[in-house]
Amino acid sequence: MKLSRYFTLAELTRSQTAQSLGIPNVPGATETAHLRALCEQVLDPLREAIGTPIRVNSAFRARSVNARIPGASTTSQHLDGKAADIQAPAMAVLELFQRIIRMGLPFDQIIYEAMSPTAKWVHVSFDPTRRRGDIRVARFGPNGRPTGYPPVTREQALAMDEPRTRGGGAQELEYVELDDAPEPRGRRPATKKTRRVGPRATVRRPKTSAASRSATKRRSNPAKKKKKTKAVAKTARRPAARTAAKTARRSATNRPTYGRKSGTKAAKRTSRD
Ligand SMILES: [Zn+2]
Repeated sequence: MKLSRYFTLAELTRSQTAQSLGIPNVPGATETAHLRALCEQVLDPLREAIGTPIRVNSAFRARSVNARIPGASTTSQHLDGKAADIQAPAMAVLELFQRIIRMGLPFDQIIYEAMSPTAKWVHVSFDPTRRRGDIRVARFGPNGRPTGYPPVTREQALAMDEPRTRGGGAQELEYVELDDAPEPRGRRPATKKTRRVGPRATVRRPKTSAASRSATKRRSNPAKKKKKTKAVAKTARRPAARTAAKTARRSATNRPTYGRKSGTKAAKRTSRD
């Protein structure tokens, strides 16, 4: 099924993870509409401009597929069919990244992901409801897992450089299907879809109750409770009030008072003295 001028639904729903695990990766009507918008607004104009094929490594990911991907999050725009991880085999990936920015394509977020000198791709998203123009560069740890997605300005992104391989970008690039959702949890705008999906809530609820259970346990720990009461009693026994009043009386005459509480107290005492 053709989604747009240059892309098919099959290209936008392929997934290494789904394929290797035999999990179906079938978008619903909403996700398909998002995929079409992504193609029409970003991928088609880009394909047209560069004049060579674009390889979509992973765009839509069903929840069951995403859950099997390293670092699986619930905020990935791939889940909604709003993001695609792409390469252009005839072009260096950094060049592709910069081209999208330079063209002023209406992306919501774009990430340059260079996991290794040969495994690189561009994550680009389109959201019909927002256009943040958010530009980031993924950082990877020694284990190949992303460690962060610091934002960069348009100027910084366009000034980026890296050693080019002889013969240009015409090389077979590797791709690793990873979760690349740099947004903190909960920042994704609530859509019908997010509200409908329950696994996160059901997963979090027992977690919270477990946390509060352990908190109760901590609070009711008899040894600690005893200690606390003891400490409180000690403080109460200490003639702190008298000492404070004495100090206040001593200092009130030649030092301005800052705290309202101690100020009034000190003032009262001095006037009475
Ligand atoms: Zn991605």
